[in-house]
This record gives sequence, C-alpha cells and structure tokens, in this order.
Amino acid sequence: MKVAKFGGTSLASAEQIRKVFRIVTSDPKRKIIVVSAPGKRYAKDTKITDLLIACGRAILGHEEATFWLEQILDRYSEIANELGLGNEIIMDIRENLYRLVNNRKNDPLLFMEALKASGEDFHARLIARYFQKEGVEASYVHPAEAGLLLTGAPGNAKVLPESYGLLRRLRDRSGLIIFPGFFGSTKNGDILTFSRSGSDITGAILAVGVQAELYENFTDVDAVYSVNPALIPHPKKIKEITFREMRELSYAGFSVIHDEALIPAFRAGIPVHIRNTNHPEAPGTKIVKTRQNTNGPVIGIASDSGFCSLFVSKYLMNRELGFGRRLLQILEDYQISFEHIPSGIDELTVILREHQLTEAVKKDLIERIEKDLHPDSVAIEQHLSLIMMVGEGMRQTVGTAARAAKALSLSNINIEMINQGSSEVSMMFGVKEAVEAEAVRALYHEFFETAHVGTTKNL
Ligand code: ASP
Repeated sequence: MKVAKFGGTSLASAEQIRKVFRIVTSDPKRKIIVVSAPGKRYAKDTKITDLLIACGRAILGHEEATFWLEQILDRYSEIANELGLGNEIIMDIRENLYRLVNNRKNDPLLFMEALKASGEDFHARLIARYFQKEGVEASYVHPAEAGLLLTGAPGNAKVLPESYGLLRRLRDRSGLIIFPGFFGSTKNGDILTFSRSGSDITGAILAVGVQAELYENFTDVDAVYSVNPALIPHPKKIKEITFREMRELSYAGFSVIHDEALIPAFRAGIPVHIRNTNHPEAPGTKIVKTRQNTNGPVIGIASDSGFCSLFVSKYLMNRELGFGRRLLQILEDYQISFEHIPSGIDELTVILREHQLTEAVKKDLIERIEKDLHPDSVAIEQHLSLIMMVGEGMRQTVGTAARAAKALSLSNINIEMINQGSSEVSMMFGVKEAVEAEAVRALYHEFFETAHVGTTKNL
C-alpha cells in the first residue's frame, strides 16, 4: 500500500486535479490520498490558506470579511464547475464556511485554527466527489474520525503517539481514502494545525500509521536538485538521498519537503519519493535510509543567510567549570535559540538566527554576558550565511575539506567559520552574506563540474 500526498500547486485548478486523478488511478497500490488546500495557479496568485488567514484576521479585527469569503468560495466554485460537479458541493462548502466564521470568536486561536484547516477539509470533500463522479470508489475521511490526534501549540501541533495505532484501521476500509492534510484534532475535539506546509507531515504520519511500503510526495519539481537552481542553472538532479542528508540540506534552505515530515518516515524506515505531478514520468528523488554511494563525496550544497555569531573569549575558559552552560542559560533567559557552537580552547562562538536579535536585545545581551561571565571580549558579528556541503560519501573520502577550502580561496572568499566533524555527513562554512552566492558557485563547480580522482579512506 502507498500513501500519496499532493501539494497545493498539484491541486490548484480543475486541470491539475485531473492530472492527480490519472496519477492516482494508474497504480492500484495508491490507497490513501492526502490533499493540500488549493495553492497558487501562477506566481502572483494567493493560496487558499492565505486567503483564509486574511479572512480570519479581518473577522477578529471586526472588519468586513465578505470580500475574502467570496474569493475563497469563488476558487472552489470555479474548480467544481470545471470538473462538472453540480452545485451541491459548493452549497456544502458555503454553509460550512459561514458556520465556521460565525463560531468561537471568543477563542481567537482556535477560531483561526479551524478556519485555516478548512482549506484542506473542503478540498478533500470536493476531490472525493470528483473521484466518485468518475466512477471510482473513494471516500473523504475526517482526521478526527480516523484518529489523527494532536497536541501542542496552535499552528505548530505535534502528533500524539497513540494516533498511529488508530490510523492503522484505515487499512481495512475499502476503496480510496481522500484525507485532508495539515490538521488533526485534540482529544477534546478542537482542530489544531501543523506548521505551514504541514500536509507533508500528515502524509508521513499516515504512511507510518498504515505501514505503507512507500510515501509518495507529489509536488511541482522534477527532483530535489543538488543546489539551488536560482544560483546554478540546470543543476544536477538527486536520484536517491538518505534521510540524514536531506535533513542537513533542508536545514540550510532546501524546502522541497517539510523537515518534520521526515521524522516519522525515517523512524519507521518508510522511503519517501518526491515526484512531479506535472511530469509523473520523471524519476523524482527517493529519500531512503541507506544508499549506495555512487556520486562522490558531496550530494548537495545548500546555503541560507540571516545568521550572526556571538563570539566570547576568556583566557583559561577551558578550565572554568560551567562557562558554556551559563552562557547558554543567558540565551535561554532571552528566549534565543542557537544553531551551532564552534569552540576553541578559550573561545566560544554561538551561531544564532539574526531575526531573534533586536538592537535592544543585543545591547542587553552583551551587558549581561560581561556582568555574569567576565569575558576578555564579547562581540556580535552580523550578516553571515551558512553553506552546508552534504554527503554520506564524505566519511569515506580524503581531502574533501581541502578541496572546498581551495575552491573558496581561489574565489577570494574568506571563511569566517568551519564546522566539520560534528555531523558525519556535512561540512559547514560561515561566510559573509555578500559572498554567499559566489561561494556556493565555487563549491558546486569544484564538486559537480570538475573531474576529480578521489582517494578513499582506509577505514
Ligand atoms: N495549506 C497549508 C499551507 O499552505 C498546508 C499545506 O499546503 O501543506 O501551509
């Protein structure tokens, strides 16, 4: 049995839904179909989820919301009409939408959650109707009915482990199951959503629940690319990648699949296949537990900007018990999370996401560190980018760091920081934001465009 999830662009119009229908019905193993809300039809279009959020905010701000409500209903009507689905489904969606907006405004968070989730919910109902009209046995299933139980913060919910056992019962249903992504319910019956793009997470949870042989994630790209195509035209496509490699790449900017979606699939050992709804014949990218290393040391290069470093030095720091803990405690007191801590004997550099530091927080933080830790120096450096070179093959290859450093030096790029060894599958370079793109190009050229006879480590 396979679980197939289709993203917002794959379901943005009647034409896209017809493609999804053909894909789903071409393989009888595809049994559970997880759907997103209608996404963008073209670059400047607005996703239904964003329209719902705008609508909810208007209502909570006591503004007129008819404009938003009609836009939302128009999108569904257009799709339903083009699919030849009669008026009933639209009446149904209209009634439910108006019921939702008139409900629970006394609890704004839960009001917003239910409204956000309705984008997926309406679409799943509509798509199930379409499959039925085409003569396929298909039923819409609500996550609460199926037992997808969630807990935690609105907009960032987490699955309760008992859900997996409950979801397993879906195996026994006959016909196709059309399941809305992105949300589930608490034990009290309140709707909670995952973080944005969370239908990927629903798909992974269902794949684990029903113990699927494969989790197919249909989106709008042919494959995961080895580097951001905005930086390098037509980069190499990745055919197979391990969960660990994918995690490292998505940390630094690869956003093909939600990184939380990989956790359940990784733990249960279910491979994830990224595929393109618009080119179902393309091989896509398979995310697997282990792979044959056929591509050299590096499988992908990712980069992300918006980092800064907090540098603290103190003579004999290495002998001062609890120094690191006290420094991190200060960050915790300011609710600042950290990314990495490269360290020397008498130095610690804490890499942070810059958006967490306002000018006032920076000033306070430095004063507090000076007062509590008495360092020789403390400084914050801003506008850094991190570049991650990722590949399981690095463990077996000698000289990868040397090649990378040489490529950067030939492009006259100063390395502000290196983090190598903490992860067995990645090497991280900190560079100034201004040279990020150039650094990525230099590394891509070295590892993907230059013939090189590698040396394998004798392990
Ligand atoms: N529709 C939701 C979003 O736009 C979830 C998803 O598409 O996965 O974030």
